Amino acid sequence: MPGSFRIGSIAGIDINIHVSWLIILVFLTFSLATGWFPLYYPGYSVSTYYLLGFISTLLLFVSVLLHELAHSFVARARGLPVHSIVLFIFGGVSNIEQEPQSPGVEFSMAFVGPLVSLIIGGLCYGILALVRGSHSPVIPVLSYLALTNILLGIFNLLPGFPLDGGRVLRSIIWKATGSVQRATNIATFVGQAFAYLFILYGILLFFNGNVLGGLLIAFTGWFLLTAAQSARAQTALDTAFRGVTVGQIMNTNPMTVPADISLQRLVDEYFIPQGLRSALVLQVDQLAGLITLSDIRHVPREQWSQTPVGLAMVPTERLHTVTPQQSLSEVLPLMTGRDVNQLPVVQDGKLVGVLTRDAIIRSVEIRRSLGLDKRDKAA
Ligand SMILES: [Zn+2]
Repeated sequence: MPGSFRIGSIAGIDINIHVSWLIILVFLTFSLATGWFPLYYPGYSVSTYYLLGFISTLLLFVSVLLHELAHSFVARARGLPVHSIVLFIFGGVSNIEQEPQSPGVEFSMAFVGPLVSLIIGGLCYGILALVRGSHSPVIPVLSYLALTNILLGIFNLLPGFPLDGGRVLRSIIWKATGSVQRATNIATFVGQAFAYLFILYGILLFFNGNVLGGLLIAFTGWFLLTAAQSARAQTALDTAFRGVTVGQIMNTNPMTVPADISLQRLVDEYFIPQGLRSALVLQVDQLAGLITLSDIRHVPREQWSQTPVGLAMVPTERLHTVTPQQSLSEVLPLMTGRDVNQLPVVQDGKLVGVLTRDAIIRSVEIRRSLGLDKRDKAA
Protein backbone atom coordinates (compact mmCIF):
# COMPACT_ATOMS: atom_id res chain seq x y z
CA MET A 1 0.00 0.00 0.00
CA PRO A 2 1.51 3.39 -0.93
CA GLY A 3 2.09 5.80 1.94
CA SER A 4 2.92 3.12 4.49
CA PHE A 5 6.19 2.33 6.21
CA ARG A 6 7.58 -0.72 7.97
CA ILE A 7 7.99 -0.63 11.74
CA GLY A 8 9.20 -4.18 12.27
CA SER A 9 8.20 -7.78 11.80
CA ILE A 10 6.56 -10.48 13.92
CA ALA A 11 7.18 -14.15 13.07
CA GLY A 12 8.31 -13.18 9.57
CA ILE A 13 5.29 -10.97 8.86
CA ASP A 14 6.17 -7.36 8.07
CA ILE A 15 4.21 -4.84 10.14
CA ASN A 16 3.54 -1.61 8.25
CA ILE A 17 1.85 1.58 9.33
CA HIS A 18 -0.03 3.78 6.91
CA VAL A 19 0.40 7.54 7.41
CA SER A 20 -3.36 7.85 7.97
CA TRP A 21 -2.87 5.93 11.21
CA LEU A 22 -0.57 8.67 12.54
CA ILE A 23 -3.35 11.20 11.96
CA ILE A 24 -5.72 8.97 13.94
CA LEU A 25 -3.12 8.64 16.71
CA VAL A 26 -3.04 12.42 17.18
CA PHE A 27 -6.80 12.81 16.75
CA LEU A 28 -7.73 10.03 19.23
CA THR A 29 -5.19 11.10 21.84
CA PHE A 30 -6.49 14.66 21.65
CA SER A 31 -10.18 13.76 21.73
CA LEU A 32 -9.73 11.31 24.63
CA ALA A 33 -7.62 13.78 26.62
CA THR A 34 -9.96 16.72 26.13
CA GLY A 35 -13.36 15.03 25.88
CA TRP A 36 -14.12 11.53 27.05
CA PHE A 37 -11.64 11.09 29.92
CA PRO A 38 -12.22 14.45 31.73
CA LEU A 39 -15.99 13.99 31.33
CA TYR A 40 -16.25 10.45 32.76
CA TYR A 41 -13.11 10.27 34.93
CA PRO A 42 -12.67 13.72 36.54
CA GLY A 43 -9.89 14.64 38.93
CA TYR A 44 -6.68 14.13 36.94
CA SER A 45 -4.27 16.77 35.64
CA VAL A 46 -4.28 17.87 31.99
CA SER A 47 -0.94 16.19 31.32
CA THR A 48 -2.22 12.94 32.88
CA TYR A 49 -5.22 13.03 30.52
CA TYR A 50 -2.91 13.41 27.52
CA LEU A 51 -0.67 10.60 28.74
CA LEU A 52 -3.68 8.32 29.31
CA GLY A 53 -5.09 9.27 25.90
CA PHE A 54 -1.79 8.47 24.23
CA ILE A 55 -1.39 5.13 26.07
CA SER A 56 -4.99 4.16 25.28
CA THR A 57 -4.52 4.92 21.59
CA LEU A 58 -1.29 2.93 21.45
CA LEU A 59 -2.97 -0.03 23.18
CA LEU A 60 -5.87 0.20 20.73
CA PHE A 61 -3.26 -0.03 18.00
CA VAL A 62 -1.82 -3.16 19.69
CA SER A 63 -5.36 -4.60 19.87
CA VAL A 64 -5.92 -4.06 16.13
CA LEU A 65 -2.51 -5.62 15.48
CA LEU A 66 -3.46 -8.70 17.55
CA HIS A 67 -6.72 -8.97 15.57
CA GLU A 68 -4.76 -8.94 12.29
CA LEU A 69 -2.09 -11.32 13.58
CA ALA A 70 -4.86 -13.78 14.45
CA HIS A 71 -6.08 -13.70 10.81
CA SER A 72 -2.52 -14.04 9.55
CA PHE A 73 -1.51 -16.91 11.83
CA VAL A 74 -4.60 -18.95 10.99
CA ALA A 75 -4.11 -18.23 7.27
CA ARG A 76 -0.52 -19.37 7.49
CA ALA A 77 -1.40 -22.48 9.47
CA ARG A 78 -3.79 -23.37 6.64
CA GLY A 79 -1.05 -22.96 4.06
CA LEU A 80 -1.81 -19.47 2.76
CA PRO A 81 1.30 -17.27 2.65
CA VAL A 82 1.13 -13.94 4.52
CA HIS A 83 3.80 -11.34 3.93
CA SER A 84 2.63 -8.21 5.68
CA ILE A 85 0.06 -6.42 7.77
CA VAL A 86 -0.80 -2.76 7.18
CA LEU A 87 -2.44 -0.73 9.93
CA PHE A 88 -4.33 2.29 8.69
CA ILE A 89 -7.15 4.68 9.48
CA PHE A 90 -9.95 2.08 9.58
CA GLY A 91 -8.00 -0.69 11.28
CA GLY A 92 -5.78 -3.22 9.64
CA VAL A 93 -5.35 -5.31 6.54
CA SER A 94 -3.53 -8.62 6.39
CA ASN A 95 -1.99 -9.14 2.99
CA ILE A 96 -2.86 -12.78 2.45
CA GLU A 97 -1.57 -13.77 -0.96
CA GLN A 98 -4.25 -16.24 -1.98
CA GLU A 99 -7.96 -16.69 -1.55
CA PRO A 100 -8.87 -19.61 0.74
CA GLN A 101 -9.45 -22.87 -1.10
CA SER A 102 -12.31 -24.17 1.04
CA PRO A 103 -15.20 -22.69 3.05
CA GLY A 104 -13.80 -24.18 6.28
CA VAL A 105 -10.47 -22.36 5.87
CA GLU A 106 -12.27 -19.12 5.06
CA PHE A 107 -14.55 -19.45 8.07
CA SER A 108 -11.80 -20.02 10.65
CA MET A 109 -9.54 -17.41 9.08
CA ALA A 110 -12.25 -14.74 9.12
CA PHE A 111 -13.86 -15.55 12.44
CA VAL A 112 -10.69 -15.60 14.52
CA GLY A 113 -10.08 -11.83 14.10
CA PRO A 114 -13.32 -10.56 15.70
CA LEU A 115 -13.04 -13.41 18.22
CA VAL A 116 -9.66 -12.04 19.39
CA SER A 117 -11.13 -8.51 19.62
CA LEU A 118 -14.06 -9.77 21.69
CA ILE A 119 -11.71 -11.75 23.97
CA ILE A 120 -9.48 -8.68 24.52
CA GLY A 121 -12.60 -6.61 25.28
CA GLY A 122 -13.89 -9.28 27.67
CA LEU A 123 -10.52 -9.52 29.45
CA CYS A 124 -10.45 -5.73 29.90
CA TYR A 125 -13.94 -5.85 31.43
CA GLY A 126 -12.78 -8.67 33.70
CA ILE A 127 -9.79 -6.70 34.99
CA LEU A 128 -12.01 -3.62 35.35
CA ALA A 129 -14.32 -5.57 37.65
CA LEU A 130 -11.31 -6.34 39.89
CA VAL A 131 -10.04 -2.75 40.18
CA ARG A 132 -13.42 -1.02 40.22
CA GLY A 133 -13.98 1.32 43.15
CA SER A 134 -10.32 2.31 43.35
CA HIS A 135 -9.17 5.62 41.89
CA SER A 136 -6.61 4.04 39.60
CA PRO A 137 -5.68 5.69 36.27
CA VAL A 138 -5.81 2.25 34.64
CA ILE A 139 -9.63 2.40 34.88
CA PRO A 140 -10.17 4.93 32.03
CA VAL A 141 -7.64 3.09 29.84
CA LEU A 142 -9.22 -0.32 30.48
CA SER A 143 -12.75 1.05 29.96
CA TYR A 144 -11.72 2.56 26.65
CA LEU A 145 -10.01 -0.64 25.48
CA ALA A 146 -12.92 -2.81 26.62
CA LEU A 147 -15.42 -0.67 24.71
CA THR A 148 -13.35 -0.22 21.53
CA ASN A 149 -12.42 -3.90 21.27
CA ILE A 150 -16.01 -5.05 21.75
CA LEU A 151 -17.13 -2.50 19.12
CA LEU A 152 -14.31 -3.60 16.82
CA GLY A 153 -15.40 -7.22 17.20
CA ILE A 154 -19.06 -6.43 16.56
CA PHE A 155 -18.39 -4.05 13.66
CA ASN A 156 -16.20 -6.65 11.96
CA LEU A 157 -18.87 -9.30 12.39
CA LEU A 158 -21.37 -7.30 10.30
CA PRO A 159 -22.19 -9.81 7.58
CA GLY A 160 -21.06 -7.77 4.58
CA PHE A 161 -18.00 -8.38 2.43
CA PRO A 162 -15.18 -7.28 2.85
CA LEU A 163 -15.68 -7.21 6.64
CA ASP A 164 -14.76 -10.40 8.50
CA GLY A 165 -18.45 -11.09 9.03
CA GLY A 166 -18.94 -10.89 5.27
CA ARG A 167 -16.27 -13.55 4.85
CA VAL A 168 -17.96 -15.67 7.52
CA LEU A 169 -21.27 -15.27 5.65
CA ARG A 170 -19.58 -16.11 2.37
CA SER A 171 -18.02 -19.27 3.79
CA ILE A 172 -21.43 -20.41 5.13
CA ILE A 173 -23.20 -19.82 1.78
CA TRP A 174 -20.25 -21.35 -0.04
CA LYS A 175 -20.51 -24.46 2.16
CA ALA A 176 -24.30 -24.61 1.73
CA THR A 177 -24.48 -24.05 -2.03
CA GLY A 178 -21.06 -25.27 -3.15
CA SER A 179 -20.72 -22.09 -5.21
CA VAL A 180 -18.05 -19.58 -4.20
CA GLN A 181 -19.22 -17.30 -6.99
CA ARG A 182 -22.78 -17.09 -5.69
CA ALA A 183 -21.55 -16.79 -2.10
CA THR A 184 -19.31 -13.88 -3.07
CA ASN A 185 -22.11 -12.14 -4.93
CA ILE A 186 -24.45 -12.37 -1.94
CA ALA A 187 -21.79 -11.35 0.61
CA THR A 188 -20.66 -8.35 -1.45
CA PHE A 189 -24.29 -7.36 -2.06
CA VAL A 190 -24.96 -7.36 1.70
CA GLY A 191 -21.66 -5.51 2.17
CA GLN A 192 -22.76 -2.79 -0.24
CA ALA A 193 -26.12 -2.52 1.53
CA PHE A 194 -24.34 -1.95 4.88
CA ALA A 195 -22.03 0.55 3.19
CA TYR A 196 -25.01 2.57 1.91
CA LEU A 197 -26.60 2.45 5.39
CA PHE A 198 -23.37 3.84 6.87
CA ILE A 199 -23.25 6.62 4.29
CA LEU A 200 -26.91 7.49 4.87
CA TYR A 201 -26.53 7.46 8.66
CA GLY A 202 -23.37 9.59 8.35
CA ILE A 203 -25.21 12.16 6.24
CA LEU A 204 -28.09 12.24 8.76
CA LEU A 205 -25.66 12.79 11.65
CA PHE A 206 -23.86 15.46 9.65
CA PHE A 207 -27.04 17.48 9.07
CA ASN A 208 -28.09 17.00 12.68
CA GLY A 209 -24.99 18.86 13.78
CA ASN A 210 -22.57 15.99 14.46
CA VAL A 211 -20.22 17.09 11.68
CA LEU A 212 -17.14 15.08 12.57
CA GLY A 213 -18.93 11.88 13.59
CA GLY A 214 -21.14 12.11 10.50
CA LEU A 215 -18.17 12.55 8.19
CA LEU A 216 -16.31 9.67 9.81
CA ILE A 217 -19.25 7.28 9.48
CA ALA A 218 -20.04 8.35 5.90
CA PHE A 219 -16.38 7.97 5.00
CA THR A 220 -16.30 4.49 6.57
CA GLY A 221 -19.33 3.62 4.41
CA TRP A 222 -17.63 4.90 1.30
CA PHE A 223 -14.54 2.85 2.16
CA LEU A 224 -16.64 -0.30 2.65
CA LEU A 225 -18.39 0.34 -0.66
CA THR A 226 -15.21 0.59 -2.71
CA ALA A 227 -13.71 -2.39 -0.87
CA ALA A 228 -16.80 -4.51 -1.62
CA GLN A 229 -16.64 -3.56 -5.29
CA SER A 230 -12.95 -4.37 -5.64
CA ALA A 231 -13.43 -7.66 -3.74
CA ARG A 232 -16.13 -8.62 -6.22
CA ALA A 233 -13.91 -7.73 -9.18
CA GLN A 234 -10.96 -9.65 -7.72
CA THR A 235 -13.06 -12.76 -7.14
CA ALA A 236 -14.42 -12.61 -10.68
CA LEU A 237 -10.84 -12.43 -11.90
CA ASP A 238 -9.66 -15.31 -9.70
CA THR A 239 -12.61 -17.38 -10.84
CA ALA A 240 -12.08 -16.70 -14.54
CA PHE A 241 -8.41 -17.64 -14.32
CA ARG A 242 -8.48 -20.26 -11.62
CA GLY A 243 -5.41 -22.45 -11.97
CA VAL A 244 -4.18 -20.75 -15.15
CA THR A 245 -0.48 -19.90 -15.16
CA VAL A 246 1.44 -17.48 -17.35
CA GLY A 247 3.36 -20.38 -18.88
CA GLN A 248 0.17 -21.99 -20.19
CA ILE A 249 -0.94 -19.11 -22.37
CA MET A 250 2.23 -17.17 -23.13
CA ASN A 251 3.59 -16.96 -26.65
CA THR A 252 6.78 -19.02 -26.50
CA ASN A 253 8.12 -17.62 -29.74
CA PRO A 254 8.10 -13.85 -29.21
CA MET A 255 9.40 -11.40 -31.79
CA THR A 256 12.86 -10.28 -30.73
CA VAL A 257 15.41 -7.92 -32.21
CA PRO A 258 19.13 -7.56 -31.43
CA ALA A 259 20.17 -4.57 -29.29
CA ASP A 260 23.02 -3.49 -31.52
CA ILE A 261 21.23 -2.82 -34.83
CA SER A 262 20.28 0.77 -35.74
CA LEU A 263 16.78 2.17 -35.46
CA GLN A 264 16.78 2.60 -39.25
CA ARG A 265 17.38 -1.15 -39.74
CA LEU A 266 14.80 -1.94 -37.07
CA VAL A 267 12.18 0.08 -38.96
CA ASP A 268 13.14 -1.12 -42.44
CA GLU A 269 13.72 -4.80 -41.71
CA TYR A 270 11.41 -5.57 -38.79
CA PHE A 271 8.69 -3.03 -37.98
CA ILE A 272 7.46 -2.08 -41.48
CA PRO A 273 7.68 -5.48 -43.24
CA GLN A 274 6.17 -7.38 -40.29
CA GLY A 275 3.68 -4.75 -39.17
CA LEU A 276 5.11 -4.65 -35.62
CA ARG A 277 4.27 -2.03 -33.01
CA SER A 278 6.83 -3.31 -30.49
CA ALA A 279 9.53 -5.92 -30.06
CA LEU A 280 11.59 -7.35 -27.22
CA VAL A 281 15.28 -6.56 -27.42
CA LEU A 282 17.91 -9.23 -26.83
CA GLN A 283 21.57 -8.85 -25.90
CA VAL A 284 23.11 -12.23 -26.77
CA ASP A 285 20.38 -14.45 -25.24
CA GLN A 286 19.43 -12.21 -22.31
CA LEU A 287 16.43 -9.88 -22.32
CA ALA A 288 17.72 -6.30 -22.56
CA GLY A 289 14.51 -4.31 -22.96
CA LEU A 290 11.48 -3.43 -25.04
CA ILE A 291 11.29 -1.10 -28.05
CA THR A 292 8.00 0.38 -29.22
CA LEU A 293 6.90 2.74 -31.99
CA SER A 294 6.72 5.63 -29.54
CA ASP A 295 10.32 5.01 -28.39
CA ILE A 296 11.39 5.26 -32.04
CA ARG A 297 9.36 8.45 -32.56
CA HIS A 298 11.19 10.07 -29.63
CA VAL A 299 14.43 9.95 -31.65
CA PRO A 300 14.70 12.54 -34.48
CA ARG A 301 14.49 10.84 -37.85
CA GLU A 302 17.92 11.96 -39.09
CA GLN A 303 19.54 10.15 -36.11
CA TRP A 304 17.90 6.76 -36.75
CA SER A 305 20.81 5.37 -38.74
CA GLN A 306 23.33 6.14 -35.96
CA THR A 307 21.19 5.23 -32.94
CA PRO A 308 21.35 1.60 -31.77
CA VAL A 309 18.12 0.00 -30.55
CA GLY A 310 19.74 -0.54 -27.13
CA LEU A 311 19.92 3.22 -26.60
CA ALA A 312 16.30 4.02 -27.50
CA MET A 313 14.59 1.05 -25.82
CA VAL A 314 13.07 0.86 -22.35
CA PRO A 315 15.63 -1.25 -20.44
CA THR A 316 14.60 -4.42 -18.57
CA GLU A 317 15.04 -2.74 -15.16
CA ARG A 318 12.15 -0.43 -16.00
CA LEU A 319 9.92 -3.20 -17.35
CA HIS A 320 7.62 -5.46 -15.40
CA THR A 321 8.62 -9.05 -16.06
CA VAL A 322 6.84 -12.20 -14.93
CA THR A 323 7.76 -15.87 -14.56
CA PRO A 324 5.96 -18.80 -16.25
CA GLN A 325 4.89 -20.17 -12.83
CA GLN A 326 2.96 -17.06 -11.77
CA SER A 327 -0.81 -17.29 -11.85
CA LEU A 328 -2.63 -15.17 -14.36
CA SER A 329 -4.88 -13.49 -11.81
CA GLU A 330 -1.74 -12.36 -9.99
CA VAL A 331 -0.08 -10.73 -13.01
CA LEU A 332 -3.18 -9.25 -14.62
CA PRO A 333 -3.19 -6.14 -12.38
CA LEU A 334 0.23 -5.31 -13.91
CA MET A 335 -1.50 -4.87 -17.27
CA THR A 336 -4.79 -3.27 -16.36
CA GLY A 337 -4.92 0.45 -15.79
CA ARG A 338 -1.52 0.93 -17.39
CA ASP A 339 -0.76 1.13 -21.04
CA VAL A 340 1.00 -2.22 -20.99
CA ASN A 341 0.01 -4.61 -23.76
CA GLN A 342 2.62 -7.26 -23.17
CA LEU A 343 4.74 -8.62 -20.36
CA PRO A 344 8.04 -10.39 -21.04
CA VAL A 345 8.18 -13.81 -19.38
CA VAL A 346 11.61 -14.45 -17.91
CA GLN A 347 13.16 -17.49 -16.27
CA ASP A 348 16.63 -17.07 -14.70
CA GLY A 349 17.24 -13.90 -16.74
CA LYS A 350 16.45 -15.71 -20.00
CA LEU A 351 13.47 -14.67 -22.11
CA VAL A 352 11.14 -17.67 -22.45
CA GLY A 353 8.04 -16.00 -23.87
CA VAL A 354 5.72 -13.02 -23.87
CA LEU A 355 2.29 -12.60 -22.34
CA THR A 356 0.03 -10.40 -24.47
CA ARG A 357 -3.38 -8.86 -23.92
CA ASP A 358 -4.66 -10.68 -27.01
CA ALA A 359 -3.58 -14.08 -25.67
CA ILE A 360 -5.38 -13.40 -22.37
CA ILE A 361 -8.59 -12.33 -24.11
CA ARG A 362 -8.46 -15.41 -26.38
CA SER A 363 -7.92 -17.64 -23.34
CA VAL A 364 -10.93 -16.12 -21.55
CA GLU A 365 -13.14 -16.65 -24.60
CA ILE A 366 -12.07 -20.26 -25.08
CA ARG A 367 -12.47 -21.10 -21.38
CA ARG A 368 -15.87 -19.44 -21.31
CA SER A 369 -17.14 -21.25 -24.39
CA LEU A 370 -15.99 -24.56 -22.89
CA GLY A 371 -17.58 -23.73 -19.52
CA LEU A 372 -14.19 -23.91 -17.76
CA ASP A 373 -14.60 -20.51 -16.10
CA LYS A 374 -16.83 -21.84 -13.32
CA ARG A 375 -15.04 -22.38 -10.06
CA ASP A 376 -17.90 -24.28 -8.46
CA LYS A 377 -17.01 -27.82 -9.47
CA ALA A 378 -13.54 -27.64 -7.99
CA ALA A 379 -14.83 -25.99 -4.80
ZN1 LIG B 1 -10.48 -8.72 10.74
